[in-house]
Amino acid sequence: MSQEQPSNTNPSGKLIITAAITGSRNMRDISPHIPYTPEEIVQSSIECWNAGASIVHIHVRDPRTGLGSQDLDLFRRVVEPLRVQTDLVLCLTTSGIAGRNLPYQDRLAPLDLKPELASFDAGSINLGGGVFSNPPDFLDQAAEMMLETGVKPEIEVFDSGMIITALRMRDQGRLLDPLHFQFVLGTPWGASATPRTLLYLLDLIPAGSTWSIIGIGKGHLPMSVMALAMGGHIRVGLEDNIYYSRGVLAASNAQFVERIAALARDYGRPVASPQETRTILGLSEPKNQKSLI
Ligand code: ZN
Repeated sequence: MSQEQPSNTNPSGKLIITAAITGSRNMRDISPHIPYTPEEIVQSSIECWNAGASIVHIHVRDPRTGLGSQDLDLFRRVVEPLRVQTDLVLCLTTSGIAGRNLPYQDRLAPLDLKPELASFDAGSINLGGGVFSNPPDFLDQAAEMMLETGVKPEIEVFDSGMIITALRMRDQGRLLDPLHFQFVLGTPWGASATPRTLLYLLDLIPAGSTWSIIGIGKGHLPMSVMALAMGGHIRVGLEDNIYYSRGVLAASNAQFVERIAALARDYGRPVASPQETRTILGLSEPKNQKSLI
């Protein structure tokens, strides 16, 4: 993997910021600022867009309980207003709900809304006291459906074996170049959030791939700075981190975006607009968004 920047896929060197708005794990008992309802998720996404995010990674929750949900109608209540009010790139989850083994069709239901990106967790791992289960037949089905619907997989990598899995699926024609990786470093069960780990993972991904990084917890800023320096991209948000700094809860998702946008500006890699993001990631031409609703 070439690590020079700017790269062929990103001659401007601009930085893509993804905001992971809510996830399905963190609850309001640990942070009161986590969006639950579709309206709160939309509002937070718009704030992130205004702060410089070009992608939002979307989970939805049951508005009454705050628990994660794969209800397609709830996804629709987020996707529709964002398509009307913003030009954000939407990345919908296929991860399911923490702690529950959902039927595959429920996990893949958000693909019906034809987002430009969807998460593709390239293997199973212990997570949050359970197993985040992504067996081979699920990956095959998810990849096939993403190919059929024209949704680009965002390949989530918690450990190096997940890259090996993705490369095998690429060799089988199930995943198409250029691949886009999202490294998730610093969970208590997976690869650590260290520069050495990141360098190793980058050695494994094919030239021409794009990549972004999530540093969980105290790994957030160090990994973000690594991505800035090495031509990668950055994901922030309350799905991944509830603390803005040591012992201080983040007040909003946008607060995280604002900090990274400021760092990027000072560093000399200004943030990419959603349109620039589509070019960098090789997403298909923007569709008539309203026709997809
Ligand atoms: Zn997620």
